[in-house]
Amino acid sequence: MNSTDTIAGRGLEALRAAIAGQVFVPGQAGYDQARTAWNLAVDQRPAVVVDAGSAADVVQAVRFACANGMRIAPQGTGHGAGPLEPLHGAMLLRTTRMRKVRIDPAARTARAEAGAVWQDVTVPAGQHGLAALAGSSPDVGVTGYTLGGGLGWLDRRYGLAANSVTAAELVTPAGDLVRTDAGHEPDLFWAVRGGGGVGVVTALEMRLYPVGGLYAGSLFFPIQRAAEVLHAWRDWTLTVPDEVTSEGRLLWLPPLPQVPEPLRGRAFVMVEAACLGDADTGAEQISPLRRLGPEQDTFAMLPAPALGQLHMDPDQPMPFQGDGALLDDFPAAAIDALVAVADPDAGTVLTSVEVRHLGGALARPAPGGGAQPSIDANYLLVAVGISPTSDLAAAVRAQVQAVNDALTPWHVGYDYYNSAETPAPASAVLPAASYRRLQKIKAAYDPGQAIISAHPV
Ligand SMILES: Cc1cc2nc3c(=O)[nH]c(=O)nc-3n(C[C@H](O)[C@H](O)[C@H](O)COP(=O)(O)OP(=O)(O)OC[C@H]3O[C@@H](n4cnc5c(N)ncnc54)[C@H](O)[C@@H]3O)c2cc1C
Repeated sequence: MNSTDTIAGRGLEALRAAIAGQVFVPGQAGYDQARTAWNLAVDQRPAVVVDAGSAADVVQAVRFACANGMRIAPQGTGHGAGPLEPLHGAMLLRTTRMRKVRIDPAARTARAEAGAVWQDVTVPAGQHGLAALAGSSPDVGVTGYTLGGGLGWLDRRYGLAANSVTAAELVTPAGDLVRTDAGHEPDLFWAVRGGGGVGVVTALEMRLYPVGGLYAGSLFFPIQRAAEVLHAWRDWTLTVPDEVTSEGRLLWLPPLPQVPEPLRGRAFVMVEAACLGDADTGAEQISPLRRLGPEQDTFAMLPAPALGQLHMDPDQPMPFQGDGALLDDFPAAAIDALVAVADPDAGTVLTSVEVRHLGGALARPAPGGGAQPSIDANYLLVAVGISPTSDLAAAVRAQVQAVNDALTPWHVGYDYYNSAETPAPASAVLPAASYRRLQKIKAAYDPGQAIISAHPV
């Protein structure tokens, strides 16, 4: 008997009949498409995929899984599929088609269904002069990103996206749909905000912020100037106000037609930054870096939704490997170590090595915040490479590891939840006190470990 027959024997037809969405099992048309994550390097082979159409579908799917002793992996886009454990015998519960978003301009809030991606929120919010705390990529999922903290271009001013969540609707591992906020199910509400959550989220509500002006862009320098530019950038980060969020980056662009001609097939050291405020203030803020004489300078006044293009993230699914590390500092010795290991003159299989400036509001505990109330690190290192073959995947992993290892002296005691792309327990991606509280909440609400989260508790 194959797994399809086994599950069919356990009421799969009843589940199909009960939900508006779709159900796929191995061997069935549509299964391969439904199981495919945005990160194409991850080959997910669950026993069943439920493509939920509504919160009611999620309830039915969770109850079906519980009744059949099946574990559940909630997933929106699959951008964060890298760290997931193998899904053999499990249900992949996708929320991809649950993308409704409601903006309340007067209350300055948004409600996004679990499958919404950031551009579903940033574009309509921008029409009211409001910004959401989105990340670098417009098609990363709001839910997965926020459950893991959420670092974006406005974070030094407004903090982690997770700490701007005002309510979460979720289906508990027991199959009950609940609304959680500061006054209702406070433990579940806390766990959703940066702890990966306990249960399957069906919608999030979050604060939006008025953005009067935004001066943002990139400075491109030949990669041979890596050391000089990174040293200057790091010194500059010590001087900027919370309104400025930036990163220093090494970028190797592929020789593909999608890459604009002046950049195609070339490697750069870059500074990317977003400055809240008017053009004169922004130009003044970045002037020390501009004086270094970049080869290209894209800084301009931008509407907030355009921040989704600043980092030039790929807009189509692709295979990649990556990892990150929180750094307490990024001093001269760390820069030299990074440049030595990501040698600009040597060939590399990496696509991007970036160091994001943290601090500001991220360093101050958010009042009533969640599982990541603040980030006790001043910089975040993230290294990634595209990996279309298994050989290349191994080479990228090795190089990512080498970059991480080179900066070990500056690692803080845990990694950033969202950038840990390889399997890691939640204890490795959360502050110790948060992990202890999360363990208790998980034991109370999900003693059987029904929910598979990105980083297991
Ligand atoms: C190109 C790219 C750019 C990125 N940029 C940033 C960035 O700027 N800032 C940043 O902080 N991170 C960034 N990330 C990391 C990203 O935030 C994580 O990969 C995140 O997990 C993606 O969320 P998702 O919903 O798109 O992914 P998914 O893979 O769908 O979800 C990731 C995990 O979130 C949980 N989850 C998702 N949906 C639900 C649900 N409905 N209920 C319960 N749990 C759920 C699950 O544990 C799931 O395994 C980036 C990643 C990529 C690939």
